[in-house]
Amino acid sequence: MNKSNQIFVIGITGGIGSGKSTVAGLIAKRGYLVISTDELAKEVMLNDSEVKLKLESCFGKKIYSDDGKLNPGELSQLVFNPDDVKFSALNKLNAIVHPKVIDAMTEVIESKEQSGERIIFVESALIYEAEIDEGFDCIIVVDSLVKNCIQRTIARSGLTKDEVLLRMKSQISLEEKRLAADFVIENNSTMEDLSGSVDFILNIILEMYK
Ligand code: ATP
Repeated sequence: MNKSNQIFVIGITGGIGSGKSTVAGLIAKRGYLVISTDELAKEVMLNDSEVKLKLESCFGKKIYSDDGKLNPGELSQLVFNPDDVKFSALNKLNAIVHPKVIDAMTEVIESKEQSGERIIFVESALIYEAEIDEGFDCIIVVDSLVKNCIQRTIARSGLTKDEVLLRMKSQISLEEKRLAADFVIENNSTMEDLSGSVDFILNIILEMYK
């Protein structure tokens, strides 16, 4: 990924449960090209033999089932462990997976550029954590009150409040992300309001791109 690319690359990020995927979905619904690094990470962990070997040697064979599928619950238990106060297991996981995800993302962006796409959105939870923010032409942070992030994540995932708080602790705070962002979408109201905010930001971004 490179800022001098002709394709305009826009990041969508935020905290856990802030509404990144929802915003990405609204943008995709309006006909824009949107990719998700979460999806790329799943693909990498499933299909990249080098990554699989490293993950198995680091976390044990039980993180994959007999038919080769990743067992995300098992892996989450290992990397989100309240006794691991420095998130050293999570850092190991990220060190194995992130470089491959960044390569995969770059490859997709370059191939889309070659096929004539001129604008692409990348939904990624960890743009700032993985220090890839410089590669984007602009970044939208989806911001939401902590209590809303917690409630939504519990409702969507079935995690407990403590488990959500631990995941939040592993990420850069929303305050810092908000400060670093080019655009902030506040997601503390209805889906209808969120949809309006997405239109507002898209109009500005399209003006910038012209
Ligand atoms: P994660 O970090 O877990 O991937 P995320 O930031 O991508 O989360 P979403 O998956 O978009 O967040 O949203 C979390 C949940 O909250 C989803 O079930 C979504 O439908 C719901 N949600 C998001 N925004 C709103 C809203 N404004 N009103 C009602 N529900 C919402």
